[in-house]
Amino acid sequence: MKRRGSVSEAIREAAQRLAATSDTARLDAELLMAHALGVSRSDMLLRCMADPAPAAFAALVERRAGHEPVAHILGSQEFFGRPFAVTPNVLIPRGDSESVVEAALAAAPGARRVLDLGTGSGALLLTLLAELPEASGVGIDASAPALQVAQANAEALGLAGRADLRPGDWTMPGWADGLGRFDLVIANPPYVEDDAELSPDVRDHEPAGALFAGPEGLDDYRVLVPRLPALLVPGGVAVLEIGHRQARAVSEIAAQASFVASVHPDLAGRDRALVLRQKAW
Ligand code: GLN
Repeated sequence: MKRRGSVSEAIREAAQRLAATSDTARLDAELLMAHALGVSRSDMLLRCMADPAPAAFAALVERRAGHEPVAHILGSQEFFGRPFAVTPNVLIPRGDSESVVEAALAAAPGARRVLDLGTGSGALLLTLLAELPEASGVGIDASAPALQVAQANAEALGLAGRADLRPGDWTMPGWADGLGRFDLVIANPPYVEDDAELSPDVRDHEPAGALFAGPEGLDDYRVLVPRLPALLVPGGVAVLEIGHRQARAVSEIAAQASFVASVHPDLAGRDRALVLRQKAW
């Protein structure tokens, strides 16, 4: 019988196996191993590296080698220091979007009422509510299964009492009626060009409806941005995630709705968030 190696050896082998699939092969292998062991990654690194590798690990590595995202295998993704349940029905929260949260917190530190358009897993809205203990918020999404994920996350994070998660579809007329007005509106809408080549991890495993937005990736901004003035209190702020080459185009759409836009970078230094303020009259 083949001797089963140590956790440390198995991680090293898996990282080599995953190098062709993933830019973060070593991290992926560590996260999958910690999941197989049922411990946190830091506990594993501190305590478990010499233990025998668990039998379940190999199958997890094979799933990842087939381009299934680590977040789907784990059923969870950390965002802004908190765990979020994810399923294939929601976009996996990305590090890039943490810079959108930072831009929103800097732009509207006193926000009491927050609206998240296309809430998905709820990562943006729930993070803001956790960071702004006085705030309450509404999150809308066109996808019923996505709203179930957001609701589960709101409950798991103890935020369900401040988060109103409900169906909403901005491709339908009247979608914004009755929502009220907010100090802060945030959105990470679909913004990928229809013919963009995405990695198989994204293309084959994440919801197309959360990604693609017409030939220029601008279709959703063209619908959403003109509605924002009616959703903001005077002096309110909107913060939009954008594709890193879309700052100028979305700023122009925003200028037509009487907004002044400022651009914020992500960790890689690429344009990622647009903060929209109403022009003072
Ligand atoms: N940043 C995501 C990606 O490139 C796109 C997110 C979006 O369309 N809102 O995979």
